[in-house]
Amino acid sequence: MDAITIIGGGLAGSEAALRLADLGFSVTVYEMRPQVPTPVHKSANMAELVCSNSFKSNKPDSAAGMLKAELEALASPVYHAALATSIDAGGALAVDRHAFSRMVTHLLEVHPRVRIERVEVADLEAVASTCDAVVLATGPLTSDRLADDIARRSGADQLAFYDAAAPIVMADSLDRSVVFRQSRYEETGAGDYLNCPLDQQAYQAFISELVAAERVMKKEFESGDLFQACQPIEEIARKGLDAPRFGTMKPVGLVDPATGRRPWAVVQLRAEDAAGQSYNLVGFQTNLTFPEQRRVFRMIPGLQEAEFARYGVMHRNTYLNSPQMLDGTGRLYAPDILLLETPVFVAGQLSGTEGYTEAIRSGAHVALSVAALLKGVEAPLLPDTTAFGALMRHATDPATRSYQPSHVNFGLMPPLSAPIRNKRERYAAFAERGRAAMESYVEQLMTAGLLSVRGASR
Ligand SMILES: Cc1cc2nc3c(=O)[nH]c(=O)nc-3n(C[C@H](O)[C@H](O)[C@H](O)COP(=O)(O)OP(=O)(O)OC[C@H]3O[C@@H](n4cnc5c(N)ncnc54)[C@H](O)[C@@H]3O)c2cc1C
Repeated sequence: MDAITIIGGGLAGSEAALRLADLGFSVTVYEMRPQVPTPVHKSANMAELVCSNSFKSNKPDSAAGMLKAELEALASPVYHAALATSIDAGGALAVDRHAFSRMVTHLLEVHPRVRIERVEVADLEAVASTCDAVVLATGPLTSDRLADDIARRSGADQLAFYDAAAPIVMADSLDRSVVFRQSRYEETGAGDYLNCPLDQQAYQAFISELVAAERVMKKEFESGDLFQACQPIEEIARKGLDAPRFGTMKPVGLVDPATGRRPWAVVQLRAEDAAGQSYNLVGFQTNLTFPEQRRVFRMIPGLQEAEFARYGVMHRNTYLNSPQMLDGTGRLYAPDILLLETPVFVAGQLSGTEGYTEAIRSGAHVALSVAALLKGVEAPLLPDTTAFGALMRHATDPATRSYQPSHVNFGLMPPLSAPIRNKRERYAAFAERGRAAMESYVEQLMTAGLLSVRGASR
């Protein structure tokens, strides 16, 4: 029987372990807690939720709802544990966190093909040499000793320790009568940037709200020299009224076609995807709370109705430079980037996805990939019209530079073949297209013998 080693018994690792064990593989899960704690986990349970107890929206025509439908279609054991321990939370899925993690721990403990080792893995080679495949799922708080080992093997620049993500807004929520397309010093051509022009008055009003806005309280382990390389925009503004205007918001080389003049300041927006469905606020890494980002950034001319595909975040987060390291199956490129002979797959937050539900889905995806490899069958291609397929395409596209982890969102989806203006109808169309793609994907998994139980389709 093929032996699989899973490092990290969190959300991704637990899902991968249960799925692979159900498929007949012999699985060892290495989990370092409680012997070695993390700064946020409080128990010895597997799949412990470190913060909120919410798995976000259940609405079928939201990206988070689509992701749940995909987990249901794959009969995810960890998602089913979340459903079994859910509590009332309106349109969202929230769980009793203790009951949830206890249930997942129990499922792993009683499974005849799962062995749990309460040990910190510090040397990849030592565990990889004893098995047929490794799944790395040590999450955003990967232990320092293992992170050092990964960085030593892959090169220090391939592993990041902090998020510094700027907000992303949906293209169709921008006021096109205000924003103009232009690259700096460009006289002709379409330009790679959209620019939001601010006059002196708008700039001053914006900066005064920016510096006064409420920020996320950082945990003790997140303070210190956290953001030296990547200052949040509100910290730059705190250095002086004009500091952003001489940096990220500098207007040089730009002429607003509406006035024929250089604006006082600009916010530049850069496309996040090839289809230009969503735009990143360049240089706007921020630590403001989400409601404050919505309030303050909507003061920027052109963004007054902005819909946020993702808010900016800055927190401790260990993740790989996935676009340069992982293929679409979640496997590290061969010849193995970590200089190991055993195939290594990466799941969960370490692979550059963000969010509880995404971590579970990532564990499922990687388990299917490992199973396909060891069974010698071809894994069906995950359609990029599914919520997780779109995220994986984004996270593993070698063309992506300066990668920041992302959760699922409609800004990552391939455009619809016929554009729909009405937002609600468009999202429903994304969801329906994804559901149909998932249905045929599940069919292919069944045929390939990679899925033993078919989940419900919704
Ligand atoms: C402080 C914080 C708050 C967050 N809050 C939210 C939130 O509210 N909502 C949300 O959707 N997402 C949140 N996230 C993001 C993310 O979705 C979760 O962290 C999620 O748990 C990631 O799942 P995972 O399986 O990748 O990692 P984890 O669930 O963290 O699992 C990784 C496991 O690996 C173990 N481990 C680490 N190193 C080793 C080692 N060397 N050897 C053996 N075991 C090891 C850890 O003990 C842990 O059990 C948060 C992240 C952080 C850091």
